[in-house]
Amino acid sequence: MVVHTDKVSLSSDLLSRRKQNEKIGFVPTMGALHRGHLSLVKNALKENDCVVVSIYVNPTQFDNKEDLKKYPRILQKDIQLLQELSGDILLYVPNNEDIYGEKVTSAHFEYDGLEHQMEGAHRKGHFDGVGTILSIFFDIIKPHSAYFGEKDFQQLQIVRKLVQLQKYPVEIVGCPIVRENNGLAMSSRNKRLSEKEFEEAAFIYKTLQKVKRKFPTTSIKKINEFVKEQFLHNSYLKLEYFEIANEQTLVPAKHKMKTNKYRAFIAVHCGKVRLIDNVPLN
Ligand code: AMP
Repeated sequence: MVVHTDKVSLSSDLLSRRKQNEKIGFVPTMGALHRGHLSLVKNALKENDCVVVSIYVNPTQFDNKEDLKKYPRILQKDIQLLQELSGDILLYVPNNEDIYGEKVTSAHFEYDGLEHQMEGAHRKGHFDGVGTILSIFFDIIKPHSAYFGEKDFQQLQIVRKLVQLQKYPVEIVGCPIVRENNGLAMSSRNKRLSEKEFEEAAFIYKTLQKVKRKFPTTSIKKINEFVKEQFLHNSYLKLEYFEIANEQTLVPAKHKMKTNKYRAFIAVHCGKVRLIDNVPLN
């Protein structure tokens, strides 16, 4: 595996690969890799000649300084995991200067309103930061395809919109959520949970599964009330939001329409760690 720490050496490596007609896949990550990330890399390796994996904790997508400071950073372990996977990986580990130059700032992005819902409403500037870093990455790497997890489903839809609006010639591939044995969606932030919190956090997916079972026969209003009620009695988990939303528009639904696809989205605080998850409902 080749490790590049600056965009100049990465670009020249990619240029020679492009000249040999290699198909380039791209998996952006913030590191502290787990099986969820690795599933994206494995899919990318199957469908491309070489795969760029980036590890970069992008400051402009954090709305919370403490979260940015405490974000797990374990580069040597990440390198080991990727090395075990394949030699056809180009790892890109830039620093802030390589990405942003002298000033770390975000551009403003609009994604046909997708940015106003859920994570966008609760994390100010988050999707501006996501749009900024992905535009920079796409310009440097010029991948044929890029892989994103459904774990961040709103982000996945926003990336699809970004690519459509900015006309990037890249195929966006969505990959299913990988879970811990207890059902908790894998996340780098899970490393910050205590053993007890990790156990308790399984309640999030258990509740989503109940929502899925109720969905065919229960109104959205009743389901919303049910979820709120569930979390009222949980001393470890504080509900930030729960929404049933249209998969395409991400607008929270009040009533079900047979022609629409719906997903349940949730954000929960477990101690000092913020966790998100989602499930398809129909
Ligand atoms: P992150 O490092 O959290 O920015 O995530 C990098 C990519 O991995 C994003 O596209 C995420 O959606 C994806 N990802 C994170 N956790 C999971 C998971 N449990 N299952 C599938 N994909 C995931």
